[in-house]
This record gives sequence, C-alpha cells and structure tokens, in this order.
Amino acid sequence: MIEINTQNLEKAIAKARQTKPLVKVIEFRHYQVTNKITGATYTVKFSKINNRKFAECDCKATKVCYHIGAASGIHIILAAQTVTT
Ligand SMILES: [Zn+2]
Repeated sequence: MIEINTQNLEKAIAKARQTKPLVKVIEFRHYQVTNKITGATYTVKFSKINNRKFAECDCKATKVCYHIGAASGIHIILAAQTVTT
C-alpha cells in the first residue's frame, strides 16, 4: 500500500493521460485498469486511514503507478458523491 498525495498522484495522472487506460469500477474504491495496447489488467484499491489516503495496485510498480492515476480520476468523482470517503 502506498500513501498518495497531490504530488505523486499528479505524476501518475499525467502518465495515465498519455497511456489512456480503460478504467472499470468493480465497486467503490475498487477499480480494474486495463492497458488497451497490451491488454494487461490490474486491480487498484483505495483506502483512507486516519485521514491519510492510500492506494494499492497489483502491478509490479513500487511507486504510484499510472493505474492508480487513472483510477483516481474516477475515484475522486465517486468519493465526492459519497459521505464516507
Ligand atoms: Zn499499477
């Protein structure tokens, strides 16, 4: 699990904009991200602990990857609609 912040998330979102992966909502905080070129699919999960935000992806990256960046775009919208983000 990696703690996410504005800085590392911004980089991941920028990378996601170039890669344009497909994001599917499995359930709130749980997303499936597919690379349209390679077909590789990864699962991204978000959690909030003591007001700190964390994300995890099952790809081999050890930092905030673009899968997290791509999923966060949708997550931010869904979280804004939900009281318990
Ligand atoms: Zn990833």
